[in-house]
Formats: sequence, C-alpha cells, structure tokens
Amino acid sequence: MDTYKINENGFYGEFGGAYIPEILHRCVTELQSNYLRIMESESFISEYRQLLRDYVGRPSPLYLTRRLSERYNCRLYLKREDLNHTGAHKINNTIGQILIARRMGKTRIIAETGAGQHGVATATVCALMNMECVVYMGKTDVERQHINVQKMEMLGARVVPVVSGNQTLKDATNEAIRDWCCNPSDTYYIIGSTVGPHPYPDMVARLQSVISEEIKLQLQQAEGREHPDYIIACIGGGSNAAGGIFHYIDDTRVRIVLAEAAGDGVDSGRSAATIQLGRRGVIHGSRTLVMQTPDGQIEEPYSISAGLDYPGIGPMHAHLATTRRATVLPVEDGEALAAAYELTRLEGIIPALESAHALGALHKIGFKSDDIVVLILSGRGDKDLHTLLQYKF
Ligand SMILES: *Cc1c(COP(=O)(O)O)cnc(C)c1O
Repeated sequence: MDTYKINENGFYGEFGGAYIPEILHRCVTELQSNYLRIMESESFISEYRQLLRDYVGRPSPLYLTRRLSERYNCRLYLKREDLNHTGAHKINNTIGQILIARRMGKTRIIAETGAGQHGVATATVCALMNMECVVYMGKTDVERQHINVQKMEMLGARVVPVVSGNQTLKDATNEAIRDWCCNPSDTYYIIGSTVGPHPYPDMVARLQSVISEEIKLQLQQAEGREHPDYIIACIGGGSNAAGGIFHYIDDTRVRIVLAEAAGDGVDSGRSAATIQLGRRGVIHGSRTLVMQTPDGQIEEPYSISAGLDYPGIGPMHAHLATTRRATVLPVEDGEALAAAYELTRLEGIIPALESAHALGALHKIGFKSDDIVVLILSGRGDKDLHTLLQYKF
C-alpha cells in the first residue's frame, strides 16, 4: 500500500464515505465540492492563520519533559494543546469551520456536544463571528456538565436539551442532523471530530493538521530532525490524533500509538474501546467500526472521560488500526487517573481526563533511551477537577 490517506471518494480503505438521508444530499454535496477550494484560497488561509496565532495562541509549545522522560526512559515531548484558548485542540477545528461556513453564505450554526467542550468551542467562535448558534446536548449531559452549559449560554448560544434515547451524545447528534434536514439552506453543521459523512473527517483532520505541522518545525529545532519515533494520542472521534499524525501518516519511521478508553476494562461491559470491540457498521453517516449488539443496535459506551465515550471512531483511525499502521492500546479509567496524577506531580501540569488516557499508555510501551516520543496533550484538566479529586493517589 502506498498511502494511508483518504481517496477521492472519501474513503480510507474500506472506511468512510457519506451514508446520508436523501434530504441532506444537497448540503453534503455542496460541502464536498467546496471545502478544499475554500481551504486552499488565500483569503481563508490568511484569516485562519491569523486567528490561530492571535486568538488561539499558536504555535502551542512542544515541551521536553524532564521528570516524566526520566520515568519512561525516553525523550518525551508534550504537544501543549492544553494551552490553547478554551483549553483544548477543539478550537483549531471550530475556527476553521466557521470561516468555511461564512464563505458558503451560511448564517446559522448548529453543533452537537457530549461533554460540552465542542459546544463551548463552537459557541466561542460564533460569538467571535456574530453568528446564531444552537447546540444540541443530551439532557443527561446538560445536568452532568453544568459549567459548560453556563459558558455556552454566556457566549450567547442556545443550548437545547435532548430527551430522546439515552439523552447523551449519540442522541444529541441525531437531533442536530434532524435540525440540518429542516434548515439545509441557511444552516451549517459544525462537527467536532473526524467523524460524520465525507468530507467532515478529512476537513477536520486538515484543520487539526496544524498540530503536526508545528511538531515538524519544533522537532527540527530541538532535535535536528522532523520526525519522532513515536506519536501518542488519545482517541474519542479521533481529531487530536488525526492532527498529530497528519504529516507523518505515510512515514513509517514514525510509530503511531492510539489510546482508547477501556472504562472498567475492555471485557467488562462498561467501556468505550470501539476499535477493540467494534464491528463494521454505519454511524452518523460514515462506515467505520461501531460498538453494536449482535442485531446492530448501537451500544451505549462508558468512560470516566466524557470526551471519549463515543460508540464509533473516525474512519481514518479504523483504517489505521485494521491495517496495523497504528497500534491501539486500551487504557482503563484507573490507569488514566493514575497517569493524570503522575503528570501533575512530576511536571506540574493537570491534564484533561481524555489526554490522561494517552499518558496512561506510556507504561505499556517499552522505549529505548534515545527514542523521541511526542504525546499530544489534547486539553487541560480544569473541567475534570471534580472527578480527579474524587480519587486520591
Ligand atoms: C473532545 C476531546 C478529546 C476527544 O476528541 P478527539 O476528536 O478524539 O480528539 C480529547 N481530548 C480533549 C481534551 C477533548 O476535549
């Protein structure tokens, strides 16, 4: 195989595509035929770059840990997405998509959110661009993620609690798709990860690719070479990982390690380890691996980290995993918690629980002392303090 990149029909190998209801056909086709042209235009590039620099605070630092490197016997760098405005990598994507929406003449933005992080990142850019914003969120999540709901409201978004199904992310996504079906001409749907129908996985990966673009420059300066030996990232839908590996995807000198949330254990019945447990299916417009019952009903995932409990996975990652380009390691709640405390105590950085899953994979890999390892620290832990403090290490 020559490339792990997407093909012209929106597939990564057997995964991806656009499996959508007829009524959305025009919206999705419109986006498919415009996103690359817009993203490659000079006006988009200059506005996007300027906002990443002055509003988000990019480039994010590539920090060579001292005590953590010693602990794991390698040269361990953290890509500090936790230092971005709004506290995670998600803003890289929402800024890009709102600029695309404006160039397509859309006036209204909708989004779905689980933990509320994507909702906050979307509400933030809508305030910045003075656009109407509606965020669908499962009622259970509205109650669990109260501070993020308040932030979205302060930013001027309307948060709609969804009462169907289990009242979580999957149901919020269904509701957002329903809204889009009713308002196809003026509304743009900002998806928060490398999931959904083509072109979303590719568009989001490209918008997050600034992460690996910066890593290449930063490693060149720090180590005299552009590529690490390992890139490690957590995967919910897969966007921070996609951004971190984008420019290395066909460079097999770089080993890709993806950490997925194993909850109480892969075989415990309470996990979100989609790649370990999933079977081929279609979810939210994309053919990928899906956690499902024998008769094809989507199973409710569980993880201590609200950002990782999605029953699907981006088609790029399904392809990387099934072709063994990437190594996928399941990380349990307890391992992630221990890793969060370890980073906090060794380096003075409190990570998001999602990012703690990437950290929790470190002890499962045997490094050589001259290995250069880059771990994507996707977000900061402020939002998770309450959970972290329930467990004392
Ligand atoms: C949402 C989120 C994730 C998971 O999403 P991906 O699309 O897989 O990156 C990971 N880390 C943080 C901090 C998040 O907010």
